[in-house]
Amino acid sequence: VLDEVVGFGELLATEAFASVDRESVDAVLDEIGRFMADVVAPSNVDGDRVGSVRNPDGSVTTPESFRAAYTQYVKGGYGAIPFDPAFGGGGFPWVTAIAIAEMFTAANMALSLCPMLTQGAIEAITGHGTEEQQAMYLPRLLNGEWAGTMNLTEPQAGSDVGAVRTKAEPVGDGSWRISGQKIFITYGEHDLAENIIHLVLARTPGSPPGTKGISMFLVPKFLVNPDGSLGERNDVHCVSLEHKLGIHGSPTCVLSYGEHGGAIGWLVGGEQEGMRNMFTMMNNARLSVGLQGLAISVRAYQQALSFAQERRQGKAVGLNQSGEQDPIIGHSDVRRMLLTQRAWIDAMRALLYENAMALDWTDAAPDADERARWRERGDLLIPLSKALCTDLGNELTSLALQVHGGMGYIEETGVAQHYRDARIAAIYEGTNGIQAGDLVGRKLGMRGGAVITDELDAIAAQGQRLQEHQELQAFAKNLDTAVDAAREATEWLAERSRQDPRSVLAGASPYLRLLGTTVCGGLMARQALAATGPGSGRTAGGAAFRAAKLVSARFFGEQILPTAPGLLASVTGGAELLDALTPGQLA
Ligand SMILES: Cc1cc2nc3c(=O)[nH]c(=O)nc-3n(C[C@H](O)[C@H](O)[C@H](O)COP(=O)(O)OP(=O)(O)OC[C@H]3O[C@@H](n4cnc5c(N)ncnc54)[C@H](O)[C@@H]3O)c2cc1C
Repeated sequence: VLDEVVGFGELLATEAFASVDRESVDAVLDEIGRFMADVVAPSNVDGDRVGSVRNPDGSVTTPESFRAAYTQYVKGGYGAIPFDPAFGGGGFPWVTAIAIAEMFTAANMALSLCPMLTQGAIEAITGHGTEEQQAMYLPRLLNGEWAGTMNLTEPQAGSDVGAVRTKAEPVGDGSWRISGQKIFITYGEHDLAENIIHLVLARTPGSPPGTKGISMFLVPKFLVNPDGSLGERNDVHCVSLEHKLGIHGSPTCVLSYGEHGGAIGWLVGGEQEGMRNMFTMMNNARLSVGLQGLAISVRAYQQALSFAQERRQGKAVGLNQSGEQDPIIGHSDVRRMLLTQRAWIDAMRALLYENAMALDWTDAAPDADERARWRERGDLLIPLSKALCTDLGNELTSLALQVHGGMGYIEETGVAQHYRDARIAAIYEGTNGIQAGDLVGRKLGMRGGAVITDELDAIAAQGQRLQEHQELQAFAKNLDTAVDAAREATEWLAERSRQDPRSVLAGASPYLRLLGTTVCGGLMARQALAATGPGSGRTAGGAAFRAAKLVSARFFGEQILPTAPGLLASVTGGAELLDALTPGQLA
């Protein structure tokens, strides 16, 4: 994907990444791959069975294997790889961080959330913190000695972040006293790192209601002395842990600020700029959550594939010669389940890495116009990456479980954990309904609708290239049909964006699926074309690898892509039927 689908080589050739070469990226990915497989992956089951536990004093203990793995992660310096060398980072492109996060999340999603949240805090402080804050907090957040959190949610403020009530009062010396309650805070308290740096959304006195009046504060668990040593314990405490469907290893905390006089915090960015600044970090966070859909699907698929080769039931019709029971992988329906997972996994990886590349190009492109185009493209792909991949995370882990038959439903088999763990990703970091609203509300109208038109034109051009290959004719035709349906859906929504916003929102989720599947079709066309070529770098000469990539791309193009145009009727159905019944009649 890096070399042949998303054009990683061109990115590395830019001035911005002059210090990074392809061989070092390979070396880093290989080393981290081994670490994730050997050290992190075995701890996954502890997360589920032992979980994180709150002690009577409010401290939280993670499973022992989590602590051992995290300590090695810090020692390896893996968390710092994509960040600024001025603070101890490796200066690698963001897409490298995404490749690392894929391996980490597949190995142990619950543990991987800790560094994921830390990355968010690093970005907030890098983008909006003062020089002093950057010097004090970034080096130890980068190396993972300290961890970060994001505190948005309160009981009355979930999707509606503007309803936040947590208060910040000025102390008079530049610091603020924070008081209020935050819920659902991932890694809000734990024993993996020496200090936890909370990024908290709160309201200052006299601020206007809604998102406009929100400011962002940095609130450390332990105050930090001027020499960098840890000082007093701050007034932020974990009052309970949630009992969850999955990711039991990740402590989801209710945090209470200011029960004993007020937690000390400092503004990050200007007063009342909290929401705007939060938005600048949202792209990476949403991409990382989309990645969870991919990573868990990969782990579950690996397990389903190996089970399908071992479990013997019945005779594979048309294949069985011996009269003995065959491995279930011989049954057409099991093959269909496996190939559906395999093809979507390839498509999701291409989408997420392409999206990460767009974010990298936004910084690295030499020309300002080009940078603006990449920013728009990155912005358009974000809701697709987040919502499509996490919806698929649910669907594909369910298929992986189905491959196991009854054993899939039994906890000891282990695949049920992936199914449960995956479920949250469609909910947090903006529910998938909110992502669909973002797509039709903000993204559809970017540059007068031309950002989507450009995307669809580029996909249509891929379709033309497919036509040059006999075996890719059916894929080419289906891609054409999907692009036409996506154009029609886009026009229908754009025409109604002002007079009939309710119908636009009614069609948002099917539109996201239609557009997302079509964009994946374009990326899988690239994969198909690359697989028919001679290959380069690592994949050159790997005939079996290339043949598998080609079949996966063709399966996507011939059997999955045709589902996209069928969604057109749901997109253009309007709000009428959705609103036809009263809540009572829905009973
Ligand atoms: C395990 C876990 C970890 C979490 N970690 C964190 C964290 O670290 N930090 C943090 O701040 N928060 C965190 N959250 C909170 C999470 O981000 C919220 O749960 C999520 O944003 C949804 O908010 P809500 O639960 O209040 O649902 P609600 O907002 O009440 O939504 C309920 C339903 O209504 C829909 N809905 C709501 N508003 C709209 C709308 N305008 N248009 C269309 N549909 C709408 C939603 O899509 C959803 O289906 C976490 C949650 C969980 C469960």
